[in-house]
Amino acid sequence: MDVNEPKYQKMLTELIELCKKNLPKTDAVLLTKSFNMSFEAHKNDLRASGDPYFLHPYEVALIIAREIPLDHISVIAALLHDVVEDTEFNLDIIKKEFGSEVAEIVDGVTKISGLFSGLEITQAENYRKLLLSMVKDVRVILVKFADRLHNMRTLDFVPPVKQRRIATETLEIYAPFANRFGLGRVKWELEDLAFKYLNKPAYEDLAKKIKSKRKEREALIAKFMSPVEAKLKEYKLDFEMGGRPKHIYSIYKKMLNQNTTFEFIYDLLAIRIILESNDQNDCYYVLGVTNQLYKPIGDRFKDYISIPKKNNYQSIHNTVFGPEGKLFEVQIRTRKMHEIAERGVAAHWKYKEHLHNNDSELEDWVNWVRDIFENASKNEATKEILASFKLNLYQDEIYVFTPNGDLKRLPLNSTPVDFAFEVHSNVGHHCIGAKVNGKIVPLDTRLNSGDQVDIITSKNQHPNRSWLQFVQTHKAKSNIRKYISREEEKILEAGKEIWEKKLKKYKLSFNHEDVNKLARKLKFDNLSQFYKAIVQNTLNLDELLNPPEEHESKQSNELQFESFAEIARTSSGDLLVEGEHKGIEYMYAKCCSPIPGDPIIGYITIGEGIKVHRKDCKNLLNMIKHGEHKLVPVNWPQDAGKYFVAGINISGEDKPGLLNEISNSITTYKNTNIKSVNISSNDSVFSGTITVYVSDLDHLNRLIERLKKSIGIYSVKRFVVGP
Ligand code: MN
Repeated sequence: MDVNEPKYQKMLTELIELCKKNLPKTDAVLLTKSFNMSFEAHKNDLRASGDPYFLHPYEVALIIAREIPLDHISVIAALLHDVVEDTEFNLDIIKKEFGSEVAEIVDGVTKISGLFSGLEITQAENYRKLLLSMVKDVRVILVKFADRLHNMRTLDFVPPVKQRRIATETLEIYAPFANRFGLGRVKWELEDLAFKYLNKPAYEDLAKKIKSKRKEREALIAKFMSPVEAKLKEYKLDFEMGGRPKHIYSIYKKMLNQNTTFEFIYDLLAIRIILESNDQNDCYYVLGVTNQLYKPIGDRFKDYISIPKKNNYQSIHNTVFGPEGKLFEVQIRTRKMHEIAERGVAAHWKYKEHLHNNDSELEDWVNWVRDIFENASKNEATKEILASFKLNLYQDEIYVFTPNGDLKRLPLNSTPVDFAFEVHSNVGHHCIGAKVNGKIVPLDTRLNSGDQVDIITSKNQHPNRSWLQFVQTHKAKSNIRKYISREEEKILEAGKEIWEKKLKKYKLSFNHEDVNKLARKLKFDNLSQFYKAIVQNTLNLDELLNPPEEHESKQSNELQFESFAEIARTSSGDLLVEGEHKGIEYMYAKCCSPIPGDPIIGYITIGEGIKVHRKDCKNLLNMIKHGEHKLVPVNWPQDAGKYFVAGINISGEDKPGLLNEISNSITTYKNTNIKSVNISSNDSVFSGTITVYVSDLDHLNRLIERLKKSIGIYSVKRFVVGP
């Protein structure tokens, strides 16, 4: 095969001529280039018929140029539409050679080809939406129509099983679609071809009958028209008149729907007269003309001009006895009425397909597309029009298949988890993984329209809080949330039970607020986490509630203190040690040596005034336990004006000059004075205590931070100075 052979050059010339004739603009150079690439890419392949494969894309391009003439980009895409799928040429090459528009259309056609294979088509409307959701440029669908039309024309060569499948798909999905796109001729040809393969005997029977009557019929129509034409021209009316063709599949459908015979349907001859006039009175004038020429049947007359149909359809329908006593259905309307009638096809289709009423979006869009078609074929198709071929319908939802071929509609960015809950809440609850188009993927994978999804479940799997980060559907979200709160409820109950048993054991009583405080102290975000820790045994209640003397838990002391302090506060009111109660004698408890900044509490002694303790003082706790308490809240004065003793525990690497370094570090900070040092070393590690004079807690903490930064220091901590 050589593209320079005269027969291929002739084919190319024919295509270019056709484009020049039908399209607003034709780039012969680019067309030639795509012709050559398609030829080159397919040159070793044959079709099922035995023809060179190249003939297929070529014919598809011809169909576009002849029957769906929109622009030359569509024609180029048609020539290349099977290149990516079947040959070693890839999208990058197409993009480089022909631009991103052509590449996108080819990519779109490739993606939707074979989309429905192996599936039983039971939800035709969903399938059509699936198709739309995958298509971003309307020309993808046009090329697909043309591709399908040529495949249908050459369907004889594929095995019968495949014939039936493709024919069903064509009848259920592509033909109604073509109709909505205003491609009436493509629609009826697709229907008739599909019908031929789905019901061959009926098709052949009807085809034979029509053929035997065609000439007779054409002659009758001509006979009817000529006197009418003469009269209308006499009155200088501009009009278009013709017989309305009837197609095999539509006759068959009418026979079924009206339960009648071929003869009854087919003997009814149909004439349409479209007036190039804005005056609807002209229609009545034409009615008068036909009624003068042919005798009308009174009860078949309908005036939809005076009383339009609900969908705004306007026309006069009249039935007359024409030549040879045959019945003729005559439709009379203006051009404007005709255009509205054509648009109304979408509404008829909608009714027939039992669509939902809220689908007006689709209808609007289809009408818009039809507008573009009409403008593109009538006027110059401008770049602006072509640029607006981007679809944005159904782009916010996706359509995915179950393993059985059922379609599920999901919001954009949905994941296998969303899909699983869509299938059944049980599937959602136990989904552990997913296969998308046969490959195992993570649960947070984003699904795409056309994906086939198979969910893997496990009895031991349960919804996970992290799923909430990626699921999209309300169904999935609410199911997961419900599960989590049910689980938390369970944990809460179990945790509470253990907690209360322990309280009983240690003869303690906590009110709700105390438990909350404790949970916060222990750095839990909320109570349920606290209870969860109890259930999971990561929180040791015995240690917390009954601390051994030497390893006392500071937190629990503090908590109990706070709770008792609260009782005291409500009974005694606020008391500032330095303030309005100046006269009250007080002193700092030696057991805990509080310094300004420490949370403190006053302990009223007999004869010694108030002793100020740190709130977490172990001694004080013991005293309260023995019931000899009387607590009052105390606050630090604004400025205590003196120094307080504080202790520091320190350990680190033992090395020469270490003590000097530490004391330097302390004394150079705010002239801090050291009260005492008690350090011992053991195996090159030293540890010990240092007591210092500080003005407040801030002073102490900064000192500790400073020491921590010294080289060789392992740990620095405050410790409570005893008497
Ligand atoms: Mn193809």
